[in-house]
Amino acid sequence: MIEIDNLHKHYRAPGGGEVAVLKGITLRVPAGSITAVVGPSGAGKSTLAKCISLLEKPDSGSIRVNGNDLSLLSGEALRRERRAIGTVFQSSALLQRKTAWQNIALPLEYLGVVPRDINKRVATLLEAVGLAHKADFYPTQLSGGQRQRIGIARALALQPSVLLADEATSGLDPDATATVLQLLKQLRDEFGLSIILITHEMDAVRRAADAVAEIRDGQIIQQGGVAELLAQPDSLLGQQLFPVNS
Ligand code: ATP
Ligand code: MG
Repeated sequence: MIEIDNLHKHYRAPGGGEVAVLKGITLRVPAGSITAVVGPSGAGKSTLAKCISLLEKPDSGSIRVNGNDLSLLSGEALRRERRAIGTVFQSSALLQRKTAWQNIALPLEYLGVVPRDINKRVATLLEAVGLAHKADFYPTQLSGGQRQRIGIARALALQPSVLLADEATSGLDPDATATVLQLLKQLRDEFGLSIILITHEMDAVRRAADAVAEIRDGQIIQQGGVAELLAQPDSLLGQQLFPVNS
């Protein structure tokens, strides 16, 4: 479960002054569910993701993961709780000179997990993302969708309870997108992950999300369950999600 309350974040503008990017974001993502975050370019979606994954420090507000407020932690406790959050980004950011297997093993090696357990865990993860047969392939030898799935496997290496996917299906063809979305749903159901799916593709929202929140200019302007929105064709978000003439 992830609970975000009244989150504020500003950046310093290059020419001086400040830009408020998140202006009081409040969001709940229960365990075993996928919440999509949509909104125009520059709305603050990636900034929200960076705050959740502790790459950026919010100005105020709180982010609790399984009840723990990460902003209150430091040192070893912070490092431990940080593992509860897995992230996967658009380019998947795999290391080019390492194989799929080695990329997934990396976070486990950093943590000092013994080789026998690394072997087991990587094998399980490769199986889970359907790429056991690509273990020894390098990123350049994989398709975009396969790279993305390896990125997801790596994000899951430390058994997080939250998975953040920032434009994880952007640039993928329809088949690869469908496979990645299917994988996210499977992870939601099998491991009870809380998944935040940041996307600009309404089709991905329809197909994979349980709930959706729209951010505009740093604020959530509408949100709701995808099933409820289907039943409320009059709401703005309902219209975006389920256009009448499609
Ligand atoms: P997109 O859909 O294009 O990915 P986004 O919703 O993810 O957009 P963010 O990346 O969160 O948008 O950026 C929100 C705003 O914050 C933008 O106006 C951007 O210029 C600004 N911003 C982001 N990072 C910084 C930074 N490090 N310093 C200053 N401003 C920043
Ligand atoms: Mg972004």
